[in-house]
Amino acid sequence: MDKIRLKDKEFELFIPEKEIKDAIAKMAKQIKADVGDTNPLFVGILNGAFMFTAELMRQMDTYYEITFARYSSYRGLNTTGVVREIMPVQADVKGRTLILLEDIIDTGYTMQFVMDKLRNDGAADVKLATMLFKPDSLKCDLKPDYVGLQIPSDFIVGYGLDYDEMGRAYRDIYKVTVNS
Ligand code: 5GP
Repeated sequence: MDKIRLKDKEFELFIPEKEIKDAIAKMAKQIKADVGDTNPLFVGILNGAFMFTAELMRQMDTYYEITFARYSSYRGLNTTGVVREIMPVQADVKGRTLILLEDIIDTGYTMQFVMDKLRNDGAADVKLATMLFKPDSLKCDLKPDYVGLQIPSDFIVGYGLDYDEMGRAYRDIYKVTVNS
């Protein structure tokens, strides 16, 4: 499908599934090499990172521990700047090395909030792996340790990402068209 419509917006094909999967496979290799036989705790950030988390962990195909947390900061096409914790990390993080798995970094406020919180909760180290990164939108001092693909600041959906809860299940990534 080259075009999709969700509610009042039209979206066009932007990143095909193959390109996303190749980027995730590359990241998995890199993380595996860095982590070695240590035992970090992987934390998938819901809802947006559910597909990325599944694909990355499948690519790594080993004993790693994986859990989830949920935060929210977006309404429609815009970040609200206010981050809410909806479900805390479902594990004891004290003394652990965490690798957060995020769908996309835009302003960076969400991950800055989450990483600060987890350090305060006693995590020994907090690393960040993001499937997508919009470097031109970044508004804080945040440097992801692992990045799948860098993209321009357009609003996108698919591969876990939504527009008002719609569009998460598409295998490819779409971007909003200029006139919609
Ligand atoms: P940030 O706090 O970095 O501005 O935004 C992070 C969160 O906003 C992401 O976890 C994601 O849920 C949402 N977000 C940022 N950019 C996009 C986008 O282009 N499309 C969608 N669907 N969500 C986005």
